[in-house]
Amino acid sequence: MIVMKFGGTSIEDIPSVKRVVEIIDSRLEQCPVVVNSAMGKTTRKLLDVARLSADGMEEKAFLRLDEIHEYHFDMARGLIPDFENSDSRTTLERYFEGLHKLLEGLSILLELTPRGQDRILSYGELVATTIIASTLQSRGINARWLDARDFIITDERFTRARPVDDLTCRSIQEKVRPLVVSGHVPVIQGFIGSTRSGVTTTLGFEGSDFTAALAGAALDVSNIEIWKDVNGIMTADPRIFAGARTVRNISFEEASELTLSGAKVLHPGTIEPARRKDIPVNIYNSRQPDAGGTTITAHANKGTNIVKSIAYNMPVCIMNIVSNSHADPSGFLRSVFDILDREGIVPYVVTTAGTGIAMAVSASEDMEHAIEELTRLGTVNIAGEKATISLVGENIRTTRDFAPVVFQNLEDVNIYMVAQGASPISLTFVVDESDIPSVIARLHEAFFKDPDPDTLE
Ligand code: ADP
Ligand code: ASP
Ligand code: MG
Repeated sequence: MIVMKFGGTSIEDIPSVKRVVEIIDSRLEQCPVVVNSAMGKTTRKLLDVARLSADGMEEKAFLRLDEIHEYHFDMARGLIPDFENSDSRTTLERYFEGLHKLLEGLSILLELTPRGQDRILSYGELVATTIIASTLQSRGINARWLDARDFIITDERFTRARPVDDLTCRSIQEKVRPLVVSGHVPVIQGFIGSTRSGVTTTLGFEGSDFTAALAGAALDVSNIEIWKDVNGIMTADPRIFAGARTVRNISFEEASELTLSGAKVLHPGTIEPARRKDIPVNIYNSRQPDAGGTTITAHANKGTNIVKSIAYNMPVCIMNIVSNSHADPSGFLRSVFDILDREGIVPYVVTTAGTGIAMAVSASEDMEHAIEELTRLGTVNIAGEKATISLVGENIRTTRDFAPVVFQNLEDVNIYMVAQGASPISLTFVVDESDIPSVIARLHEAFFKDPDPDTLE
């Protein structure tokens, strides 16, 4: 048994869905369980529509919803034979009616709660899987649509819910395994789940990768395949650095460190379920199914290059707090971390010295309330337009003088904070946002000049 997950870009139009059908068809002997994201950029679009409604711009919201409706119906017409008279059409109409009602509700309440947001976003995956399952059936594949909310059971942290592990694992085994055993290809939604009492939740943006890993671990599959629009995990984000190479093998630890350091190629939650069950995760390109891709395993080849990949986080700001109670430094640090915990802020880099603390934190979150709270402890200064850069690789652990080599290459770059030692396989530092492309290009040149053909393509 295997899990195959296809993200938004792999199912964004009719030709790409056709390619995905071929890929699934080619692996039927391995008994696949299919996990889908919403199509193209639908999740973002649904979020925009929800915000417009809650801001009182109902008409604009409905126009945008019409566009989302048309996009999906055009796809369905091009993929499902006799769509106009099919059950899929009835199902899709029902979903869009549901969305319409929810948006009406928002425009009356003029408020978008996290719970309401999850409910609305879930339709992206529900609609996508309906179209994919019918398309597969029309090609003679014994696909069976399942509602992930029947088995991905989560806590109530709407917009970033965490699965209740035992319950989710047992439910997947009860509800999904028998179908595979009886020769079906289950098609399930990534990203969405439900609380024990049946309220829809989501696992956070990009959460479909995580769903695939949860399903794979519960079903003890032989492989978790994540299909993307890139040839695998690369030595840098190819959108920022065109010369990036594909990393053939990478360890769970390296991949986990990379995703936590901002590499947007995989949801950070994906690695843990796979590692627990020692299941290889393969990342493939749905546009080039025969390219090798990346394999993530426990003991990947370390290769001869010190670094496997370079990740970055942007936008970031540096928050500096100088304590106003110089007598009790440990009490000060405790209070700072209590506030961060309450506010759900996880800093990327932290340094402390004397009576102060500096933290690099994501600048995309609303931090007004946190700053207000922190100001009670001391003087707060914020420097914006920063970014973190992380170099990740098992060989960093055993390379002496790694940091000096990194910084020799960046002599004229302003480096604001450095974190080394917190993880033995990575080095993270903070630079100006505008320096990101050139810093990545220079580090890439320095560390991948002689690429090891066994680990890099
Ligand atoms: P999907 O919609 O299939 O989940 P995503 O768009 O979420 O796919 O993830 C793939 C994208 O991740 C790529 O298009 C690429 O721009 C970005 N990315 C960032 N860092 C890396 C990296 N190190 N290797 C490969 N892709 C990366
Ligand atoms: N559709 C969701 C998102 O855009 C989940 C995913 O694609 O992984 O974040
Ligand atoms: Mg994604």
